[in-house]
Amino acid sequence: MATVNAGFSGSLFVVAAPSGAGKSTLVNALLAREPGIKLSISTTTRAPRPGEQDGREYHFTTVEDFTARTAAGEYLEWAEVHGNYYGTSRLVVEQQMKLGTDILLEIDWQGAHQVRRQFPDMAGIFIVPPSIAALEERLYKRGQDEPHVITKRLLAAGGEIAHAREFDYVIINEEFDVALDEMRAIVTATRCRFAQQAARNAPLFAQLGIHAQQS
Ligand code: GDP
Ligand code: ADP
Ligand code: 5GP
Repeated sequence: MATVNAGFSGSLFVVAAPSGAGKSTLVNALLAREPGIKLSISTTTRAPRPGEQDGREYHFTTVEDFTARTAAGEYLEWAEVHGNYYGTSRLVVEQQMKLGTDILLEIDWQGAHQVRRQFPDMAGIFIVPPSIAALEERLYKRGQDEPHVITKRLLAAGGEIAHAREFDYVIINEEFDVALDEMRAIVTATRCRFAQQAARNAPLFAQLGIHAQQS
């Protein structure tokens, strides 16, 4: 199979996990070591947590504004998660991928489904905790959500985890450094896929007589 994401030479990584599995911590550590990957900043109607800055963790907005943008088709995908809306800018993702930049989305499974329909070649990565007890402990230790919000997220964890099989890769985030190494291995392997190499190295492929399309 040659390139499916026609016209887009960047790789698309989609990372999902139940809340508290360590998704944001792992993604931030990955981005610090792989400067070639850009994180897509989602728009959300959730209130900012202490320390969160508009435009850094999320673009924070109102339900009215979010709904208007949904109607205008501005989101590559959007979903309601834990009672709030979250969406990914179509423009930002498509612009970066056309430029050959790798882009990473931290989204829920519903969003991952929508992206898969549009970019079948995306690398889907699902992160799980080593146990439900560890998940609960991490959510409490993070200390950023009210107890009733934590309860809601724990109740939702099973529903999210049920979608793990729809992803290409699963990382068990027990030892952080091991999980991070696994993330980096997935990034490297994805970049070495035929379609990505062909898109990034067109002159070399031409010189070597490697054709992207099957004859
Ligand atoms: P945390 O993951 O528990 O730290 O909580 P967040 O508030 O950061 O994320 C809440 C949920 O929204 C998670 O399931 C995310 O994967 C999901 N999410 C975040 N951004 C997006 C997005 O742009 N699109 C979609 N569909 N889901 C998103
Ligand atoms: P998510 O983005 O999936 O909701 P976070 O990245 O905020 O999760 O991680 C939840 C909490 O768990 C954070 O306080 C983080 O420091 C901690 N954490 C992440 N990975 C590990 C790990 N491997 N072992 C122990 N604690 C971890
Ligand atoms: P939190 O409110 O804890 O930051 O995020 C809760 C959940 O929303 C996480 O599972 C996160 O991945 C998901 N999420 C964040 N942004 C988006 C987004 O743009 N789209 C979708 N579908 N989910 C998102």
